[in-house]
Amino acid sequence: MKLKINEMFISIQGESSFSGFPFFFIRTSGCNLRCKYCDTKYAYEDGEFIEISEIIENVKSSQLKNVLITGGEPLIQENIYFLIDSLINNKFNVLIETNGSVLVDKINKNAIKIIDIKTPSSGECTKNNFKNFNYINFNDEIKFVISNYEDFKWSINVIEKYKIYNLVKNISLSPVYNLLSPKKLANWILEKKLNYVRLHLQLHKIIGLK
Ligand code: SF4
Repeated sequence: MKLKINEMFISIQGESSFSGFPFFFIRTSGCNLRCKYCDTKYAYEDGEFIEISEIIENVKSSQLKNVLITGGEPLIQENIYFLIDSLINNKFNVLIETNGSVLVDKINKNAIKIIDIKTPSSGECTKNNFKNFNYINFNDEIKFVISNYEDFKWSINVIEKYKIYNLVKNISLSPVYNLLSPKKLANWILEKKLNYVRLHLQLHKIIGLK
């Protein structure tokens, strides 16, 4: 059983509440969206089909316990569920990043889902599948990538409408790298007294890692 993989590497986790931990990264190939600010366009097509058993061996040889599956969009490949199950059966801590357009109901409950809700500036916010809020666990995480004040206001409305603060422990707002100043976003969060969100910066980019 194979998956089309764009790249595998080790780095410091730059996103989510796991930011700062060493991780083994598996980037799948292909994405069903085309966000305007996408920083992984190279993953749209490039990649090779690799046996899942070989992927697992690669992870084992890294001697790391934390694994992040990202893309592209990992959930557009049906075999991804087998990879997640296999990693969990091998006692790895598994995080999976998804763009929120594909239903997350089939993901192993022991994996932590990081759902990136698409904001208006992405150009893809009509693709959000809000039914996903029915399939998340409290340990899962919800992320909004923010380019401007319109994105910020839109995100707050979504958080309030679905009461996301009751569904997950971590809701993060992340400024688009080199487009929105983190300080501006920090001030908006403080002005609105948003107790339930966390400002999130892409640590790996700040320290110059992949
Ligand atoms: S979902 Fe992610 S990988 Fe796909 S286009 Fe948007 S930012 Fe790029």
